Amino acid sequence: MKSYKFRIYPSKKQEELLNKHLWLAKNLWNELLGECKKIYTNFGYFPTKNTLQLMVKNYGLYAQTQQEIAHRVHNSVIRVFKLRNNLVKCGFPRFKSIDRMKSLHYPQYGFCFDKKLKVTPFGEIAIKKHREIKGEIKTLTLKRESSGKWFAIFCAETPKEIPKENNGEAVGIDLGVMRFATLSDGKVIKNPRHLMKYEKELAFIQRKFSRKKKRSKNRKMAKVRVARLYEKISDCRRDFLHKISTELVNDYSFIASERLASQKMAEQNYGKQIHDAGWSMFANMLAYKAEGAGCRVVFVNPENTSKMCSRCGNIRKDLSLRDRTYTCPECGLTIDRDLNAAVNILKRVTPGQGGSNACNSLQKERDVAERSNVCEAGSLRLLIGEACHKATSPEFS
Ligand SMILES: [Zn+2]
Repeated sequence: MKSYKFRIYPSKKQEELLNKHLWLAKNLWNELLGECKKIYTNFGYFPTKNTLQLMVKNYGLYAQTQQEIAHRVHNSVIRVFKLRNNLVKCGFPRFKSIDRMKSLHYPQYGFCFDKKLKVTPFGEIAIKKHREIKGEIKTLTLKRESSGKWFAIFCAETPKEIPKENNGEAVGIDLGVMRFATLSDGKVIKNPRHLMKYEKELAFIQRKFSRKKKRSKNRKMAKVRVARLYEKISDCRRDFLHKISTELVNDYSFIASERLASQKMAEQNYGKQIHDAGWSMFANMLAYKAEGAGCRVVFVNPENTSKMCSRCGNIRKDLSLRDRTYTCPECGLTIDRDLNAAVNILKRVTPGQGGSNACNSLQKERDVAERSNVCEAGSLRLLIGEACHKATSPEFS
């Protein structure tokens, strides 16, 4: 399944109707959530999907859309319990204001899209079809972004592509904040720092927004202005990541990257910069683009990748974040810190290559081979048991 996102331009009347439907959807969500809570306090269990579905008849929305909201409520409640059972901290679903209800979903019928987009009950909506959709369209979501722009998102079942031939080399990638990425062959990708570029402007309009009188029309307008700038920043970021990831999967036949827990890292330190870099979005893009480009992406355990010497395997415990070059006291290797990490990352999936991993012995290699059962001919002999990321794409293109 792949998602395609297109901008749509509803007329004034249509937009009014769309907003009205969002309003109804929000009310429905709140009503159902309230009902869930009531049943739970009275009887000690949550209603099933079917019970919720029976409550939503004739609400004024498209039939399947309102059913889907019942499913959404049910799923979000159940999800909380699953997460809490696994000791993950999370909040209970909230009652929504209109700003938090953003989309109307058409899971099967109610829309038709050939040259024009027709959606019941809004009629023909102007759409900018900037690219072709491959495969069969399954679902439609109409979405209003905080900036006030409307989008149509189609999910389509795409036929499996035949991978292109790729004669590129293998590469390890070290992601960072100072530079966006360092490749094991010495190439460097600069960090564009999108947020930093607009930080001053953002602060200015946010300050203006906070000074506006509550519930005033001016405040509403200022809020849209803030949302628009945020949208611009994230658009820039996504564009950059798309370009980089496409280039990488086309140039290399094998990519090793770190499996980063960026959320956790961001909570500890440098949160703004880490989120701004968009590592997880990048990892996602690499994974789903790789298949079509005949490239293989593997994520490895990031432990000690920067502290380990890439020539002899010695681990320097005293290396701090400030040291930009790595000097090995054992073998005397002096190398850029990020480059060292990138080489280590590549070595982790290709043990025994370059003859530097001698101490890790053949036995270990054999163990790995047995565990993963993936063998490749040619330059890449082994893949560690990290399964290649599945090529699903939560990323809207
Ligand atoms: Zn060394």
